[in-house]
Amino acid sequence: MQASRVVIVGTGGTIAGVAGRADDLVDYRAGTLDAADLVAAVPTLAGELLETETLARLDSSDMDHATWLALHARLVALLQRADLAGVVVTHGTDTLEETAYFLHRTLAAPRPVVLTAAMRPATALSPDGPRNLADAVAVARTPGAGGVVVAFGGRVLAGHEVRKVHGFALDAFSTGDAGPIAVSEQGALRLLRAWPQAPLHAAATRLSAAHAAGAAAPLAWPRVDIVTSHAGADGRVIDALLAAGTQGIVVAGTGNGSVHAALDAAARRALARGVRVVRASRCQLGGVVGARADALPSYGVLTAAQARVELLLDLLADA
Ligand code: ASP
Repeated sequence: MQASRVVIVGTGGTIAGVAGRADDLVDYRAGTLDAADLVAAVPTLAGELLETETLARLDSSDMDHATWLALHARLVALLQRADLAGVVVTHGTDTLEETAYFLHRTLAAPRPVVLTAAMRPATALSPDGPRNLADAVAVARTPGAGGVVVAFGGRVLAGHEVRKVHGFALDAFSTGDAGPIAVSEQGALRLLRAWPQAPLHAAATRLSAAHAAGAAAPLAWPRVDIVTSHAGADGRVIDALLAAGTQGIVVAGTGNGSVHAALDAAARRALARGVRVVRASRCQLGGVVGARADALPSYGVLTAAQARVELLLDLLADA
């Protein structure tokens, strides 16, 4: 029989945010409510086979590597439970694309891991969190579903493609040209393409070793920074990062990943010192297509924030 139990893991975010006034959409405290409070606010989830746990209470703009490692360890453990249909992770919207990408690259998810979030706090007059949470639970229970995905605004988006493209609008996420995996129609999913699957990054082995070792051998995360190319850019930020001991730099270039000549020269000084440097685009959609023969390398379609995660994992695997 198909399992229908779902675990909801709370990590914070606006979905769990509380404001002093019901009409305040800006001045609120993210991550105030427990995962159980979020479920209690959705009448259609009453009596369902759900478990809740609160792993963190972060505003996701403060997301950190230690929380990623703890979340990864918890999800690995939950995905071993045969009685679960899937897992839902509630998260802030600000760094959701980084967490989703990190999990996509490092977590074997034969059953769905569904991230969800909200743009409005739980105390808003019309919060978007309850609908998103109900959709996320439905996705987690969908037979045949799998991989790391995001349920948001009536759509299911691939964890490695999603990016936040608007700072305030309810419809804040996009997967650009890739489009959604599915749309939610009256609670039923209309599948548009296959559930995401990808070979895991080699760094996943390092994460497993870190889970096994625990506090005895804490994982040393490499330092990876993002530098933006812009009018008037020079190489001083990169020089300062070299002095600070950075191990990897993502240059968020203009347009199709072009980099100011002065910044490019500094990036080459970094390369000469053994620091990994990759190009991305500061545009949220499109990424970097093709490359001139002498260009810095890129990861193609990834946003600068996703490229930072990929480079972090590359360095972790090489360490
Ligand atoms: N700053 C919030 C967060 O990322 C924004 C949100 O969740 O919408 O936690």
